Amino acid sequence: APAVPFAVLGVGDRNWAATYQHIPTLIDDRLDALGAHRLLPRAEADASGDLGGTVKEFTAALRTQLLARYGDPATVGAARPAAKDTGYTVTEITGGPLDALAARHDLVPMTVTEAYDLTAEDWPRPKRFLRIALPDGVGYRTADHLAVLPANAPAAVERAARALGADPETVLALHTAGRAARDTLPVDRPVTVRQLLTHHLELGLRPTPEQVAVLAAHNPCPPERLALENLAEDDPRTLIELIEAHPALRGALPWPTVLELLPPLRIRHYSLSSSPATDARHADLMVSLLPGGTGSTHLHSLRPGDTVLARVQPCREAFRLDPAEDTPVILVAAGTGLAPFRGAVADRLAAGRTGPARLYFGCDDPDGDFLHAAEFAAAEAAGVISVRPVFSARPEHGHRFVQHRIAAEAAEVWELLQAGARVYVCGDGSRMAPGVRAAFRELHGAQTGTSAGESEAWLRELTASGRYIEDVYAAG
Ligand SMILES: Cc1cc2nc3c(=O)[nH]c(=O)nc-3n(C[C@H](O)[C@H](O)[C@H](O)COP(=O)(O)OP(=O)(O)OC[C@H]3O[C@@H](n4cnc5c(N)ncnc54)[C@H](O)[C@@H]3O)c2cc1C
Repeated sequence: APAVPFAVLGVGDRNWAATYQHIPTLIDDRLDALGAHRLLPRAEADASGDLGGTVKEFTAALRTQLLARYGDPATVGAARPAAKDTGYTVTEITGGPLDALAARHDLVPMTVTEAYDLTAEDWPRPKRFLRIALPDGVGYRTADHLAVLPANAPAAVERAARALGADPETVLALHTAGRAARDTLPVDRPVTVRQLLTHHLELGLRPTPEQVAVLAAHNPCPPERLALENLAEDDPRTLIELIEAHPALRGALPWPTVLELLPPLRIRHYSLSSSPATDARHADLMVSLLPGGTGSTHLHSLRPGDTVLARVQPCREAFRLDPAEDTPVILVAAGTGLAPFRGAVADRLAAGRTGPARLYFGCDDPDGDFLHAAEFAAAEAAGVISVRPVFSARPEHGHRFVQHRIAAEAAEVWELLQAGARVYVCGDGSRMAPGVRAAFRELHGAQTGTSAGESEAWLRELTASGRYIEDVYAAG
Protein backbone atom coordinates (compact mmCIF):
# COMPACT_ATOMS: atom_id res chain seq x y z
CA ALA A 1 0.00 0.00 0.00
CA PRO A 2 1.28 3.53 -0.68
CA ALA A 3 2.85 5.27 2.32
CA VAL A 4 0.49 7.46 4.33
CA PRO A 5 1.28 11.10 3.54
CA PHE A 6 1.62 13.41 6.52
CA ALA A 7 2.87 16.81 7.62
CA VAL A 8 3.29 18.07 11.18
CA LEU A 9 2.93 21.65 12.38
CA GLY A 10 3.74 21.99 16.08
CA VAL A 11 2.30 24.99 17.92
CA GLY A 12 3.75 26.03 21.27
CA ASP A 13 5.77 28.59 23.15
CA ARG A 14 9.52 28.27 23.42
CA ASN A 15 9.39 29.74 26.95
CA TRP A 16 8.06 26.33 28.11
CA ALA A 17 11.34 24.84 27.02
CA ALA A 18 10.95 21.52 28.81
CA THR A 19 8.00 20.46 26.66
CA TYR A 20 8.26 22.79 23.65
CA GLN A 21 7.58 20.83 20.43
CA HIS A 22 8.03 17.47 22.17
CA ILE A 23 4.72 15.93 21.12
CA PRO A 24 4.87 17.16 17.49
CA THR A 25 8.46 15.87 17.29
CA LEU A 26 7.38 12.50 18.72
CA ILE A 27 4.54 12.19 16.20
CA ASP A 28 6.72 13.29 13.29
CA ASP A 29 9.53 10.84 14.16
CA ARG A 30 7.14 7.95 14.85
CA LEU A 31 5.21 8.34 11.58
CA ASP A 32 8.48 8.53 9.69
CA ALA A 33 9.83 5.43 11.47
CA LEU A 34 6.64 3.53 10.57
CA GLY A 35 7.21 4.28 6.88
CA ALA A 36 4.73 7.12 6.37
CA HIS A 37 5.62 9.70 3.70
CA ARG A 38 6.62 13.10 5.10
CA LEU A 39 5.28 15.80 2.78
CA LEU A 40 7.03 18.68 4.51
CA PRO A 41 9.70 19.10 7.16
CA ARG A 42 8.11 19.49 10.62
CA ALA A 43 7.37 23.17 11.28
CA GLU A 44 7.59 24.92 14.65
CA ALA A 45 5.11 27.73 15.26
CA ASP A 46 6.22 29.68 18.28
CA ALA A 47 3.79 31.91 20.18
CA SER A 48 6.77 33.96 21.37
CA GLY A 49 8.05 34.27 17.80
CA ASP A 50 6.43 34.68 14.38
CA LEU A 51 3.57 32.24 14.98
CA GLY A 52 1.33 33.71 12.28
CA GLY A 53 4.13 33.79 9.70
CA THR A 54 5.13 30.18 10.36
CA VAL A 55 1.53 28.96 10.13
CA LYS A 56 1.02 30.87 6.88
CA GLU A 57 4.23 29.53 5.39
CA PHE A 58 3.39 25.98 6.45
CA THR A 59 -0.17 26.02 5.16
CA ALA A 60 0.94 27.54 1.86
CA ALA A 61 3.66 24.90 1.45
CA LEU A 62 1.20 22.15 2.38
CA ARG A 63 -1.35 23.47 -0.08
CA THR A 64 1.31 23.48 -2.79
CA GLN A 65 2.25 19.89 -1.96
CA LEU A 66 -1.36 18.78 -2.01
CA LEU A 67 -2.08 20.61 -5.26
CA ALA A 68 1.01 19.10 -6.83
CA ARG A 69 -0.02 15.60 -5.72
CA TYR A 70 -3.76 15.72 -6.22
CA GLY A 71 -4.48 18.80 -8.37
CA ASP A 72 -7.25 21.26 -7.56
CA PRO A 73 -10.68 19.78 -8.31
CA ALA A 74 -12.20 23.26 -8.09
CA THR A 75 -10.19 24.62 -10.98
CA VAL A 76 -8.38 21.96 -12.98
CA GLY A 77 -10.30 21.14 -16.12
CA ALA A 78 -12.98 23.69 -15.23
CA ALA A 79 -12.84 25.13 -18.73
CA ARG A 80 -14.16 21.90 -20.17
CA PRO A 81 -17.89 21.27 -20.23
CA ALA A 82 -19.08 18.90 -17.52
CA ALA A 83 -20.10 15.44 -18.66
CA LYS A 84 -23.89 15.34 -18.91
CA ASP A 85 -24.53 12.45 -16.58
CA THR A 86 -22.33 13.35 -13.58
CA GLY A 87 -21.84 17.10 -13.32
CA TYR A 88 -18.06 16.65 -13.01
CA THR A 89 -15.14 16.81 -15.39
CA VAL A 90 -12.04 15.21 -13.99
CA THR A 91 -8.58 15.78 -15.37
CA GLU A 92 -5.96 13.33 -14.19
CA ILE A 93 -2.61 14.94 -13.54
CA THR A 94 0.33 12.58 -13.63
CA GLY A 95 4.06 13.00 -13.12
CA GLY A 96 5.95 15.82 -11.43
CA PRO A 97 5.26 19.54 -11.69
CA LEU A 98 8.09 20.13 -14.20
CA ASP A 99 7.34 17.13 -16.43
CA ALA A 100 5.24 19.08 -18.92
CA LEU A 101 7.94 21.74 -19.15
CA ALA A 102 10.64 19.10 -19.70
CA ALA A 103 8.53 17.32 -22.31
CA ARG A 104 7.92 20.56 -24.22
CA HIS A 105 11.67 21.03 -24.69
CA ASP A 106 12.59 17.35 -24.84
CA LEU A 107 14.67 17.64 -21.67
CA VAL A 108 15.51 15.13 -18.97
CA PRO A 109 16.81 15.69 -15.45
CA MET A 110 20.58 15.20 -15.28
CA THR A 111 22.57 15.08 -12.06
CA VAL A 112 25.58 17.26 -11.36
CA THR A 113 28.38 15.13 -9.92
CA GLU A 114 31.16 17.74 -9.66
CA ALA A 115 31.18 21.53 -9.54
CA TYR A 116 34.09 23.87 -8.86
CA ASP A 117 35.61 27.14 -9.99
CA LEU A 118 38.16 26.98 -12.78
CA THR A 119 39.28 30.52 -12.05
CA ALA A 120 41.28 31.82 -9.09
CA GLU A 121 39.44 32.70 -5.88
CA ASP A 122 37.50 35.99 -6.15
CA TRP A 123 38.36 36.24 -9.84
CA PRO A 124 36.09 39.00 -11.22
CA ARG A 125 34.87 36.90 -14.17
CA PRO A 126 34.40 33.45 -12.64
CA LYS A 127 34.26 30.34 -14.79
CA ARG A 128 32.94 27.12 -13.40
CA PHE A 129 33.48 23.46 -14.13
CA LEU A 130 30.46 21.17 -14.02
CA ARG A 131 30.45 17.42 -14.49
CA ILE A 132 27.08 15.96 -15.32
CA ALA A 133 26.04 12.31 -15.21
CA LEU A 134 24.21 11.35 -18.38
CA PRO A 135 21.06 9.28 -17.83
CA ASP A 136 20.87 5.80 -19.36
CA GLY A 137 20.40 5.96 -23.10
CA VAL A 138 21.89 9.45 -23.45
CA GLY A 139 25.26 9.68 -25.17
CA TYR A 140 27.30 12.45 -26.78
CA ARG A 141 30.11 13.18 -29.18
CA THR A 142 32.97 15.59 -28.67
CA ALA A 143 31.96 19.24 -29.28
CA ASP A 144 28.23 18.59 -28.87
CA HIS A 145 26.28 21.11 -26.82
CA LEU A 146 24.18 20.74 -23.74
CA ALA A 147 20.85 22.55 -24.06
CA VAL A 148 19.86 23.59 -20.55
CA LEU A 149 16.64 25.03 -19.19
CA PRO A 150 17.73 27.27 -16.33
CA ALA A 151 15.75 28.34 -13.28
CA ASN A 152 15.65 31.91 -12.05
CA ALA A 153 17.63 32.52 -8.86
CA PRO A 154 15.56 32.71 -5.64
CA ALA A 155 16.61 36.35 -5.10
CA ALA A 156 15.47 37.29 -8.62
CA VAL A 157 12.15 35.52 -8.02
CA GLU A 158 11.58 37.29 -4.69
CA ARG A 159 12.43 40.59 -6.30
CA ALA A 160 10.06 40.05 -9.22
CA ALA A 161 7.22 38.94 -6.91
CA ARG A 162 7.74 42.03 -4.75
CA ALA A 163 7.76 44.33 -7.79
CA LEU A 164 4.54 42.75 -9.04
CA GLY A 165 2.97 42.98 -5.58
CA ALA A 166 2.40 39.21 -5.50
CA ASP A 167 2.74 36.79 -2.61
CA PRO A 168 5.14 34.07 -3.84
CA GLU A 169 2.96 31.40 -2.22
CA THR A 170 -0.26 32.42 -3.95
CA VAL A 171 -1.52 29.55 -6.08
CA LEU A 172 -2.52 30.34 -9.66
CA ALA A 173 -4.54 28.19 -12.04
CA LEU A 174 -3.75 29.08 -15.65
CA HIS A 175 -6.42 28.54 -18.29
CA THR A 176 -5.62 29.20 -21.91
CA ALA A 177 -8.14 30.93 -24.09
CA GLY A 178 -8.20 29.27 -27.50
CA ARG A 179 -4.45 29.33 -28.17
CA ALA A 180 -2.41 26.60 -29.81
CA ALA A 181 -0.84 24.52 -27.04
CA ARG A 182 2.69 25.24 -28.30
CA ASP A 183 2.12 28.98 -27.74
CA THR A 184 1.20 28.54 -24.11
CA LEU A 185 3.23 27.81 -21.01
CA PRO A 186 3.56 24.08 -20.37
CA VAL A 187 1.77 24.28 -17.02
CA ASP A 188 -0.61 21.38 -16.44
CA ARG A 189 -1.63 22.11 -12.84
CA PRO A 190 -2.04 25.00 -10.43
CA VAL A 191 1.31 26.57 -9.60
CA THR A 192 2.51 29.01 -7.00
CA VAL A 193 3.73 32.43 -8.05
CA ARG A 194 7.17 31.25 -6.92
CA GLN A 195 7.08 28.20 -9.22
CA LEU A 196 5.82 30.27 -12.13
CA LEU A 197 8.53 32.91 -11.73
CA THR A 198 11.27 30.34 -11.03
CA HIS A 199 10.72 27.84 -13.82
CA HIS A 200 8.60 29.40 -16.52
CA LEU A 201 9.30 33.07 -17.21
CA GLU A 202 12.28 35.18 -18.28
CA LEU A 203 12.88 37.81 -15.60
CA GLY A 204 16.04 39.47 -16.92
CA LEU A 205 14.98 40.92 -20.26
CA ARG A 206 14.69 44.54 -21.27
CA PRO A 207 11.22 45.54 -22.46
CA THR A 208 10.30 46.45 -26.01
CA PRO A 209 8.71 49.90 -26.58
CA GLU A 210 5.33 48.14 -26.94
CA GLN A 211 5.78 46.53 -23.54
CA VAL A 212 6.69 49.88 -21.98
CA ALA A 213 3.44 51.23 -23.48
CA VAL A 214 1.54 48.40 -21.76
CA LEU A 215 3.19 49.32 -18.44
CA ALA A 216 2.23 52.97 -18.97
CA ALA A 217 -1.37 52.07 -19.80
CA HIS A 218 -1.71 50.02 -16.59
CA ASN A 219 -0.07 52.58 -14.33
CA PRO A 220 -2.74 54.32 -12.23
CA CYS A 221 -0.40 57.13 -11.13
CA PRO A 222 -0.33 60.00 -13.70
CA PRO A 223 3.28 61.18 -13.07
CA GLU A 224 4.58 57.59 -13.26
CA ARG A 225 2.53 56.98 -16.40
CA LEU A 226 4.03 60.10 -17.97
CA ALA A 227 7.54 58.98 -17.05
CA LEU A 228 6.93 55.61 -18.71
CA GLU A 229 5.44 57.23 -21.80
CA ASN A 230 8.59 59.32 -22.14
CA LEU A 231 11.07 56.56 -21.34
CA ALA A 232 14.24 56.70 -23.45
CA GLU A 233 14.45 53.80 -25.91
CA ASP A 234 17.93 52.95 -24.68
CA ASP A 235 16.93 52.79 -21.01
CA PRO A 236 19.11 49.95 -19.68
CA ARG A 237 16.62 48.60 -17.12
CA THR A 238 14.94 45.23 -17.37
CA LEU A 239 11.16 44.95 -17.38
CA ILE A 240 11.13 43.90 -13.73
CA GLU A 241 13.46 46.75 -12.75
CA LEU A 242 11.17 49.17 -14.56
CA ILE A 243 8.10 47.85 -12.71
CA GLU A 244 10.07 48.11 -9.48
CA ALA A 245 10.99 51.72 -10.23
CA HIS A 246 7.32 52.62 -10.77
CA PRO A 247 5.74 51.40 -7.55
CA ALA A 248 2.20 52.35 -8.58
CA LEU A 249 2.42 49.29 -10.87
CA ARG A 250 2.68 47.00 -7.83
CA GLY A 251 -0.47 44.91 -7.91
CA ALA A 252 -1.76 46.85 -10.93
CA LEU A 253 -0.78 44.32 -13.58
CA PRO A 254 -3.28 41.46 -13.93
CA TRP A 255 -1.66 38.03 -14.28
CA PRO A 256 -2.74 37.54 -17.92
CA THR A 257 -0.91 40.78 -18.74
CA VAL A 258 2.17 39.67 -16.78
CA LEU A 259 2.17 36.42 -18.77
CA GLU A 260 2.11 38.39 -22.01
CA LEU A 261 4.92 40.68 -20.82
CA LEU A 262 7.36 38.08 -19.48
CA PRO A 263 8.33 35.58 -22.19
CA PRO A 264 8.72 31.86 -21.49
CA LEU A 265 12.10 30.91 -20.04
CA ARG A 266 14.57 30.12 -22.83
CA ILE A 267 16.92 27.21 -23.30
CA ARG A 268 20.65 28.08 -23.12
CA HIS A 269 23.41 26.19 -24.93
CA TYR A 270 26.80 25.20 -23.53
CA SER A 271 29.57 23.38 -25.40
CA LEU A 272 30.56 20.10 -23.84
CA SER A 273 34.20 20.28 -22.76
CA SER A 274 34.85 16.56 -22.39
CA SER A 275 35.34 13.58 -24.65
CA PRO A 276 33.40 10.31 -24.50
CA ALA A 277 36.78 8.64 -25.12
CA THR A 278 37.66 9.62 -21.55
CA ASP A 279 34.24 9.02 -19.96
CA ALA A 280 31.14 8.32 -22.02
CA ARG A 281 28.78 8.46 -19.01
CA HIS A 282 29.69 12.00 -17.94
CA ALA A 283 29.78 15.30 -19.80
CA ASP A 284 31.73 18.35 -18.64
CA LEU A 285 30.96 22.04 -19.04
CA MET A 286 32.88 25.25 -18.50
CA VAL A 287 30.52 28.11 -17.77
CA SER A 288 31.37 31.78 -17.66
CA LEU A 289 29.28 33.83 -15.21
CA LEU A 290 27.59 36.81 -16.84
CA PRO A 291 26.38 39.26 -14.20
CA GLY A 292 22.59 39.28 -14.41
CA GLY A 293 22.57 36.32 -16.81
CA THR A 294 19.93 33.72 -15.99
CA GLY A 295 21.52 30.56 -17.42
CA SER A 296 25.06 31.17 -16.23
CA THR A 297 23.88 32.24 -12.75
CA HIS A 298 21.81 29.06 -12.51
CA LEU A 299 24.66 26.80 -13.58
CA HIS A 300 27.05 28.56 -11.18
CA SER A 301 24.62 27.90 -8.32
CA LEU A 302 24.51 24.13 -8.87
CA ARG A 303 26.19 21.78 -6.42
CA PRO A 304 26.93 18.05 -6.67
CA GLY A 305 23.66 16.16 -6.31
CA ASP A 306 21.56 18.92 -7.89
CA THR A 307 19.72 18.18 -11.09
CA VAL A 308 19.43 20.25 -14.23
CA LEU A 309 16.89 19.86 -17.04
CA ALA A 310 18.91 19.34 -20.19
CA ARG A 311 19.40 17.51 -23.48
CA VAL A 312 22.44 16.80 -25.61
CA GLN A 313 22.34 18.80 -28.83
CA PRO A 314 24.63 17.70 -31.68
CA CYS A 315 27.01 20.37 -32.97
CA ARG A 316 27.40 21.09 -36.68
CA GLU A 317 29.13 18.15 -38.37
CA ALA A 318 31.65 20.57 -39.88
CA PHE A 319 32.86 21.53 -36.41
CA ARG A 320 33.87 18.01 -35.46
CA LEU A 321 37.58 17.20 -35.40
CA ASP A 322 38.44 13.71 -36.48
CA PRO A 323 41.40 12.49 -34.39
CA ALA A 324 42.12 9.85 -37.03
CA GLU A 325 42.86 12.51 -39.67
CA ASP A 326 46.46 13.57 -40.34
CA THR A 327 45.52 17.06 -41.53
CA PRO A 328 47.10 19.76 -39.33
CA VAL A 329 44.67 21.72 -37.17
CA ILE A 330 44.77 25.25 -35.80
CA LEU A 331 42.40 25.77 -32.88
CA VAL A 332 41.54 29.30 -31.76
CA ALA A 333 39.56 30.09 -28.61
CA ALA A 334 39.07 32.70 -25.93
CA GLY A 335 37.55 32.13 -22.50
CA THR A 336 35.04 29.30 -22.35
CA GLY A 337 35.33 28.97 -26.13
CA LEU A 338 38.04 26.52 -25.09
CA ALA A 339 35.38 23.94 -24.16
CA PRO A 340 35.13 21.85 -27.36
CA PHE A 341 38.92 21.91 -27.77
CA ARG A 342 39.43 20.34 -24.34
CA GLY A 343 37.37 17.43 -25.65
CA ALA A 344 39.26 17.40 -28.96
CA VAL A 345 42.62 17.30 -27.16
CA ALA A 346 41.35 14.42 -25.00
CA ASP A 347 40.37 12.61 -28.22
CA ARG A 348 43.87 13.10 -29.60
CA LEU A 349 45.39 11.81 -26.37
CA ALA A 350 43.13 8.75 -26.47
CA ALA A 351 43.97 8.14 -30.14
CA GLY A 352 47.69 8.84 -29.57
CA ARG A 353 47.76 11.55 -32.27
CA THR A 354 50.92 13.57 -32.65
CA GLY A 355 50.19 15.25 -36.01
CA PRO A 356 50.55 19.04 -36.10
CA ALA A 357 47.96 20.71 -33.88
CA ARG A 358 48.23 24.07 -32.22
CA LEU A 359 45.88 25.87 -29.91
CA TYR A 360 45.75 29.65 -29.60
CA PHE A 361 44.00 30.37 -26.33
CA GLY A 362 43.18 33.81 -25.00
CA CYS A 363 42.40 34.66 -21.38
CA ASP A 364 43.26 37.43 -18.91
CA ASP A 365 45.99 36.10 -16.66
CA PRO A 366 48.04 32.89 -16.40
CA ASP A 367 47.30 32.70 -12.66
CA GLY A 368 43.67 33.78 -12.90
CA ASP A 369 41.69 32.21 -15.70
CA PHE A 370 43.92 29.86 -17.67
CA LEU A 371 41.27 27.13 -17.77
CA HIS A 372 42.46 23.54 -17.15
CA ALA A 373 46.07 24.79 -17.52
CA ALA A 374 47.60 21.66 -15.96
CA GLU A 375 45.65 19.35 -18.27
CA PHE A 376 46.72 21.25 -21.36
CA ALA A 377 50.33 21.27 -20.14
CA ALA A 378 50.16 17.47 -19.75
CA ALA A 379 48.68 17.08 -23.24
CA GLU A 380 51.43 19.30 -24.63
CA ALA A 381 54.05 17.20 -22.83
CA ALA A 382 52.48 14.12 -24.43
CA GLY A 383 53.00 15.79 -27.82
CA VAL A 384 49.36 15.92 -28.96
CA ILE A 385 48.96 19.72 -28.99
CA SER A 386 51.09 22.86 -29.00
CA VAL A 387 49.47 25.45 -26.73
CA ARG A 388 49.98 29.14 -27.54
CA PRO A 389 48.35 31.13 -24.73
CA VAL A 390 47.80 34.88 -24.78
CA PHE A 391 47.06 36.92 -21.65
CA SER A 392 45.24 40.22 -22.09
CA ALA A 393 46.09 41.51 -18.61
CA ARG A 394 49.74 40.31 -18.73
CA PRO A 395 50.71 40.56 -22.39
CA GLU A 396 53.94 38.91 -23.49
CA HIS A 397 55.69 40.47 -26.52
CA GLY A 398 52.75 42.90 -26.70
CA HIS A 399 50.25 40.12 -27.54
CA ARG A 400 46.97 40.82 -25.77
CA PHE A 401 44.55 38.80 -27.89
CA VAL A 402 44.80 35.57 -29.87
CA GLN A 403 44.85 37.45 -33.17
CA HIS A 404 48.03 39.27 -32.09
CA ARG A 405 49.91 36.03 -31.54
CA ILE A 406 48.56 34.52 -34.77
CA ALA A 407 49.87 37.60 -36.59
CA ALA A 408 53.24 37.32 -34.85
CA GLU A 409 53.52 33.65 -35.86
CA ALA A 410 52.19 34.28 -39.36
CA ALA A 411 54.97 32.38 -41.15
CA GLU A 412 54.36 29.17 -39.16
CA VAL A 413 50.59 29.49 -39.46
CA TRP A 414 50.93 30.00 -43.20
CA GLU A 415 53.09 26.89 -43.45
CA LEU A 416 50.39 24.86 -41.69
CA LEU A 417 47.75 26.32 -44.00
CA GLN A 418 49.87 25.40 -47.01
CA ALA A 419 49.94 21.85 -45.62
CA GLY A 420 46.12 21.85 -45.70
CA ALA A 421 45.44 22.88 -42.08
CA ARG A 422 41.86 23.31 -40.93
CA VAL A 423 41.10 26.26 -38.65
CA TYR A 424 38.52 25.95 -35.85
CA VAL A 425 37.42 29.07 -33.98
CA CYS A 426 35.22 28.93 -30.88
CA GLY A 427 33.93 31.45 -28.35
CA ASP A 428 33.16 35.15 -28.39
CA GLY A 429 31.55 36.06 -31.70
CA SER A 430 31.43 39.80 -31.14
CA ARG A 431 35.12 40.72 -30.85
CA MET A 432 37.36 37.66 -31.01
CA ALA A 433 35.94 36.01 -34.14
CA PRO A 434 36.10 39.16 -36.33
CA GLY A 435 39.61 39.89 -34.96
CA VAL A 436 40.79 36.39 -35.86
CA ARG A 437 39.27 36.59 -39.35
CA ALA A 438 41.09 39.90 -39.89
CA ALA A 439 44.36 38.32 -38.70
CA PHE A 440 43.99 35.49 -41.23
CA ARG A 441 43.17 37.90 -44.06
CA GLU A 442 46.19 40.05 -43.21
CA LEU A 443 48.39 37.00 -42.89
CA HIS A 444 47.31 35.91 -46.37
CA GLY A 445 47.98 39.38 -47.78
CA ALA A 446 51.44 39.57 -46.20
CA GLN A 447 52.43 36.07 -47.37
CA THR A 448 51.12 36.39 -50.93
CA GLY A 449 51.46 40.13 -51.53
CA THR A 450 47.91 40.28 -52.90
CA SER A 451 45.19 42.88 -52.38
CA ALA A 452 42.76 43.09 -49.45
CA GLY A 453 39.96 42.00 -51.79
CA GLU A 454 41.86 38.87 -52.81
CA SER A 455 42.61 38.00 -49.18
CA GLU A 456 38.92 38.43 -48.42
CA ALA A 457 38.05 36.07 -51.29
CA TRP A 458 40.67 33.56 -50.06
CA LEU A 459 39.14 33.47 -46.55
CA ARG A 460 35.65 33.13 -48.04
CA GLU A 461 36.84 30.17 -50.09
CA LEU A 462 38.58 28.62 -47.05
CA THR A 463 35.29 28.93 -45.15
CA ALA A 464 33.17 27.58 -48.00
CA SER A 465 35.43 24.56 -48.38
CA GLY A 466 35.09 23.70 -44.68
CA ARG A 467 38.66 24.58 -43.73
CA TYR A 468 37.79 27.64 -41.63
CA ILE A 469 35.02 26.74 -39.20
CA GLU A 470 33.51 28.88 -36.48
CA ASP A 471 31.31 27.95 -33.52
CA VAL A 472 30.90 31.38 -32.02
CA TYR A 473 28.29 33.03 -29.86
CA ALA A 474 27.51 36.32 -28.18
CA ALA A 475 29.22 35.63 -24.84
CA GLY A 476 32.76 34.37 -24.34
C1 LIG B 1 26.53 27.04 -29.39
C2 LIG B 1 26.79 27.77 -28.12
C3 LIG B 1 27.74 27.29 -27.22
C4 LIG B 1 27.98 27.97 -26.03
N1 LIG B 1 28.90 27.48 -25.16
C5 LIG B 1 29.14 28.13 -24.00
C6 LIG B 1 30.11 27.62 -23.07
O1 LIG B 1 30.74 26.58 -23.29
N2 LIG B 1 30.30 28.30 -21.92
C7 LIG B 1 29.63 29.47 -21.64
O2 LIG B 1 29.86 30.05 -20.57
N3 LIG B 1 28.71 29.98 -22.51
C8 LIG B 1 28.44 29.33 -23.66
N4 LIG B 1 27.51 29.83 -24.53
C9 LIG B 1 26.76 31.04 -24.14
C10 LIG B 1 25.54 30.64 -23.31
O3 LIG B 1 24.63 29.92 -24.11
C11 LIG B 1 24.76 31.84 -22.76
O4 LIG B 1 24.47 32.72 -23.80
C12 LIG B 1 25.51 32.57 -21.68
O5 LIG B 1 25.75 31.71 -20.57
C13 LIG B 1 24.68 33.77 -21.20
O6 LIG B 1 23.42 33.31 -20.85
P1 LIG B 1 22.68 33.80 -19.55
O7 LIG B 1 21.40 33.08 -19.49
O8 LIG B 1 23.58 33.73 -18.36
O9 LIG B 1 22.44 35.32 -19.85
P2 LIG B 1 21.04 35.95 -20.30
O10 LIG B 1 20.05 35.82 -19.21
O11 LIG B 1 20.67 35.40 -21.62
O12 LIG B 1 21.51 37.44 -20.43
C14 LIG B 1 22.15 37.87 -21.61
C15 LIG B 1 22.80 39.20 -21.35
O13 LIG B 1 21.93 40.10 -20.76
C16 LIG B 1 22.52 40.62 -19.62
N5 LIG B 1 21.55 40.74 -18.54
C17 LIG B 1 20.70 39.79 -18.14
N6 LIG B 1 20.00 40.24 -17.09
C18 LIG B 1 20.42 41.49 -16.84
C19 LIG B 1 20.09 42.47 -15.89
N7 LIG B 1 19.19 42.25 -14.94
N8 LIG B 1 20.73 43.65 -15.92
C20 LIG B 1 21.66 43.89 -16.85
N9 LIG B 1 22.01 42.99 -17.78
C21 LIG B 1 21.41 41.81 -17.77
C22 LIG B 1 23.57 39.67 -19.17
O14 LIG B 1 24.65 40.33 -18.53
C23 LIG B 1 24.00 39.08 -20.44
O15 LIG B 1 25.04 39.82 -21.00
C24 LIG B 1 27.26 29.16 -25.73
C25 LIG B 1 26.32 29.63 -26.64
C26 LIG B 1 26.08 28.95 -27.81
C27 LIG B 1 25.06 29.49 -28.76
